[in-house]
Amino acid sequence: MKREVFYPPVGIAHVTNKLSDLILYKYKGQKKVIINTSAQPNSSPHLGTITTLMTAFGLAGKIRGDLKVDTEVQFDELENSPAETIEYNGEIYYKDQRHSFYNQESKEQVNMRKFEDILEKLSIFANVPYSIRSYNEFQNNKYVRRAIINIVNEKKYFKELLFPSATDLHIRTICPACGLGKKTIKKLEEKHNKNKLVLKGYCPVHGSYEIKIAENNKEYVDINTQFRDLTKGIAMLEEDKENNTLTIMLDGGDWAGIWAQRMHTESLVKLGFTEFPIRFFAPVILDWSGAKFSKSLYLKNDAYKDINSAFINYDNFIEYYGEKGMKKLWNEVENWIEDPKKFFRNYSVDYFQMIMGENNNE
Ligand SMILES: [Zn+2]
Repeated sequence: MKREVFYPPVGIAHVTNKLSDLILYKYKGQKKVIINTSAQPNSSPHLGTITTLMTAFGLAGKIRGDLKVDTEVQFDELENSPAETIEYNGEIYYKDQRHSFYNQESKEQVNMRKFEDILEKLSIFANVPYSIRSYNEFQNNKYVRRAIINIVNEKKYFKELLFPSATDLHIRTICPACGLGKKTIKKLEEKHNKNKLVLKGYCPVHGSYEIKIAENNKEYVDINTQFRDLTKGIAMLEEDKENNTLTIMLDGGDWAGIWAQRMHTESLVKLGFTEFPIRFFAPVILDWSGAKFSKSLYLKNDAYKDINSAFINYDNFIEYYGEKGMKKLWNEVENWIEDPKKFFRNYSVDYFQMIMGENNNE
């Protein structure tokens, strides 16, 4: 059934005619505008992940058209996300997507094939190039490493700001030999000075080890969402200066609001920054009750048994709606990008059911 859809003028949409107007205050003829977005390759992506990726490409296309500047999508792959947990002597350990395997292939490889397939398609739809950065590459970035050291040097402040309910900062190490890492951190075992951080780790198979973090070394460190969101902004600001680019962070709308202000902006101020990245947030896909459509919830308890399975993962989506369905979804997201009042809002699964139709023949 076709129903009427309303777009009440709210917040920023009320004062913005086109999305590209929102970047004019920082766009000073830089040679390229980069839209950065990220996802965990922990499964075949669901509808919300696909529409967020589409939003990144849509924005890149829109900005190129409006400002006549080269644009690119940079996709941050978060292969450091936990893929499995293993218990040793009553302690819970985890392995990330790169160190966890289906048969002979890492979960990262298996799931990234689906993401690459989507990125390829969207790059063609939008005629915008893209690049993929792994978490491994990200944590090697000297600005990211410098920021981690600086944060540990202001430990008390950042514990309260970034980890309001935890007992210490969360920075994880994984065993250099096998990739096992401890799941929860009650106390961060570390030594630091202004230029170096040494983390102590323990592997139930390979014993104790140390990870040294300096600006220019490469020993692997796993940081969680708060740290990553913040250090990504820092690396972006610094590299934009070096490369004469302008990078925009694009995340799902559930990261807007208090998260963006407190974890990101207030931390940047404490670390001495007076400029902040431009952030856009893609519409969130909601279930009937207004809750975010969530993969982890679905995987855990069969929460979405009444929802069209095409929306639950990309393989189902293609099987059900085909390539034509991807184009239809893309056209929908492009519509959001064209009109701020369609962009600064969320959409329900029921709405998608209505626009996508019952099958690929519609
Ligand atoms: Zn080990």
